[in-house]
Amino acid sequence: MKTLKIAIQKSGRLNEKSVELLKNCGLNFENYKSSLISPVSNFPLEILFLRDDDIPEYVQDGIADLGIVGENVIEETEVEVNYLQRLGFGKCSLKIAVPNNNTINELSQLNGRSIATTYPVILGKFLKAQGIQSDIRTISGSVEISPGLGLADAICDLVSTGGTLKSNGLIPFADVMSSEAILICNNKNGDSELIKELVQRIQSVLRAKE
Ligand code: ATP
Ligand code: ZN
Repeated sequence: MKTLKIAIQKSGRLNEKSVELLKNCGLNFENYKSSLISPVSNFPLEILFLRDDDIPEYVQDGIADLGIVGENVIEETEVEVNYLQRLGFGKCSLKIAVPNNNTINELSQLNGRSIATTYPVILGKFLKAQGIQSDIRTISGSVEISPGLGLADAICDLVSTGGTLKSNGLIPFADVMSSEAILICNNKNGDSELIKELVQRIQSVLRAKE
């Protein structure tokens, strides 16, 4: 039987919960921080530990059969993959936020303003759907400090508790999308028996948690 490959985040917010979910499915594997690939001893599966940004494309291209990644990353990379299961962790929202001392109080006021983000694709679609033309400034991190530096009038970033926004003098202003970790598979192998077996195990772990 062919060995499946599942890509999960190597380190970061989704790593621990992804490992815990797979272990709770009865899968036996070593979780060395230094290894990029770890075989499962009691199921025909290998675990690839990757940057989350790379996971959707690896799954789309068939380098990994399955992946666990935030819906926000899947949407931003515009890949074609199958959604198998929402996993209930890594919950967050992509929000537009503005400095708490400004007068912006409706979306149309973002016309002609600049918005800094690491999610230009999702933000671009959202603004287009709302008929708003803003100047999207794509940056690779520390988005929340850009208004304070005079780089942008607003930001669009992931928020869970809102603590980071608040400590940077920003207030959430509009919801762009909500997200959680999703189990995805390559479009071609949705009906593989091994994948079905794995999805069933994951679903029973999730049910036991309810
Ligand atoms: P990598 O090194 O793998 O590229 P990263 O720094 O891009 O990691 P993390 O910050 O670990 O990513 O976030 C991974 C995912 O966790 C996000 O894409 C998102 O789906 C989810 N998430 C949940 N809450 C938050 C939050 N408050 N801020 C950012 N991401 C969050
Ligand atoms: Zn990342």
